[in-house]
Amino acid sequence: MPDIQPLSASVVNKIAAGEVIERPASVLKELLENALDAGGRRIDVSIEKGGSELIRVRDDGCGICAEQLPLAVASHATSKIRTADDLFAVCSLGFRGEALASIAEVSRLNLRSRTADAQAGAELEVVGGRSSEVAPCGCPGGTAIEVRQLFFNTPVRRKFLRSPQTEMSHLVEAFTRLALAHCNVHFTLQHNGRTLYDLPAAGSRRQRVAALLGEDLAGSLIEVESVDEDYRLAGLVAEPTQSRANNRMQYVFVNGRVIRDRALQHALQEAYRGLLLTGRYPICFLELTIPADAVDVNVHPAKQEVRFQDGGRLYSQLLSTLRRKFLTTDLTARYQPDRTDGAPAAAAPAMATSADSLAAQSELVAWAKGQLSEKLSAAPTPGADQAFFPDAQPAAAEEADQPLSLTRLDRPAGAELTGFFSGEAGDASGGSRTTALQIHNRYLVTESDDGVVVIDQHALHERILYEQIRAKVLAGSLETQQLLVPEPVDMSASEAAAVFEQSELLAKLGIHVQPFGGETVLVSSYPAMLANMAPGEILRDLVEDLLAGGKRPDRRDLLDHLLHTIACKAAIKAGDRLTCEEISELLAQRHLAQDSHHCPHGRPTALVFTREQLDRQFKRI
Ligand code: ADP
Ligand code: MG
Repeated sequence: MPDIQPLSASVVNKIAAGEVIERPASVLKELLENALDAGGRRIDVSIEKGGSELIRVRDDGCGICAEQLPLAVASHATSKIRTADDLFAVCSLGFRGEALASIAEVSRLNLRSRTADAQAGAELEVVGGRSSEVAPCGCPGGTAIEVRQLFFNTPVRRKFLRSPQTEMSHLVEAFTRLALAHCNVHFTLQHNGRTLYDLPAAGSRRQRVAALLGEDLAGSLIEVESVDEDYRLAGLVAEPTQSRANNRMQYVFVNGRVIRDRALQHALQEAYRGLLLTGRYPICFLELTIPADAVDVNVHPAKQEVRFQDGGRLYSQLLSTLRRKFLTTDLTARYQPDRTDGAPAAAAPAMATSADSLAAQSELVAWAKGQLSEKLSAAPTPGADQAFFPDAQPAAAEEADQPLSLTRLDRPAGAELTGFFSGEAGDASGGSRTTALQIHNRYLVTESDDGVVVIDQHALHERILYEQIRAKVLAGSLETQQLLVPEPVDMSASEAAAVFEQSELLAKLGIHVQPFGGETVLVSSYPAMLANMAPGEILRDLVEDLLAGGKRPDRRDLLDHLLHTIACKAAIKAGDRLTCEEISELLAQRHLAQDSHHCPHGRPTALVFTREQLDRQFKRI
């Protein structure tokens, strides 16, 4: 074994750089954080060749005085904390005191700075960790840091840089994150001399989202806010019509810091459960303001993750805030007519579009609120939280039992198939006159106050049944059908194992099973609403959910999947002709469902064509 020796400062810095500085975007993040910590109100970023040539960040913050310049680039030197205790009260973005030292070790760094009370500025050059003398220079108040030829002295790392476009997309993402987190700061971004973004200190986060990510997205955002003692949650979440195939559009800021947190991502997904198709992810811009000592920021070298003192509290605050908001917001998918007049979309003035959609949205929300309060006074629906927290006490669910009772829409043999219904829908919405037409044996077309509604009969019925079954399962009052002679069902070994492993859960759903030797499962009862299906068929459908649940399925997820499957099987199908009574009953039930706008898989149950849209399409206006 060779001797043990301390490493030189240069090697230590290179090792630290390996952790913190992965690519140009990591440099930009650190420089931006420093500029924000310095209280910059305006921050200008200039990039050349995807950051491999130049990354420059200039701010108008407090500046660094000449004597302190060498310390700014020294490792483990910081102005932000003094003692270890300070680590638990960090209010700045930086605190490790190693970013500038790391960057300077692997680049040609130029630092110019002037404090408010200094006559002149001071300048320092560091090339591959070797620092020049501090020299006076002329410069405006604040700090400008230029990082040239990143990784010039670590050729292996320089080789790992991707194309300028790829690196630029990472740089833009780093810029976007901090610009979204600090809407009150003026940011600009240039690449190869071209201005990509000029973001004046924005009045609202929505305006900043519009400038960075487009008016369309910004227009579809719903504002949320909640305060729980010293925890404040505020921000924007997208309507379910806007989603992504991954979770990269989920921006969470904790005390101004951009973080990623699995638990909060999960809470978000949970809040959108049933509103998004499987595999789709919600979009959000959420700011959490909590006491500095409620979060440990010193758990990740690039400070991208944090540890919360009470993660559970944040989880439920996020979930309940969003769920409550969705309950009072009309989430019906709006019909977006294709442009047929040939006018390029860009011809429309951007401001007008945004103002229109904002106005339309607030109108919508006002309308939805009215509808909801009417509905609530007409027929008490279960407590809002109850419906979304299947583990909650079932008391409220029992109340729900009454208004949600729904007979299976079985058509008596030989019933007349008219498919047109006009009359009183004896529902909780006040017995208003409803007319509906069934078309193609799958859609119901009906009128609403503001236009024409096209309902997907299967999706709507499935939603209603799903809520009904869930309420009954919670209350332990799901009707079951006892078989006089238990039915043997042959399964594969793994299927049978999955069934017995979850036999308790199945029993909650009214399905009682016993072993019958080998891979045969004996079914002795099943949910009454599936009376039309053979017990074997039901069990085989459900076992797919059980197997798909993976090795350690989350019980709640699994129960929810099983409920979806049962609702889907029990619901009327696309292609089923409906009688007047069936249509009437379905429409009446529509108003009782908590979220009648989406089927349990997240597909919309109805589309609205507003009268205004129709008038426009027919060129009346
Ligand atoms: P940290 O931010 O963790 O303290 P850095 O290496 O990023 O460590 O910066 C070291 C120090 O240099 C900071 O503590 C701060 O005092 C100073 N500094 C860096 N950038 C700026 C800036 N843009 N304006 C003012 N001071 C700065
Ligand atoms: Mg820093």
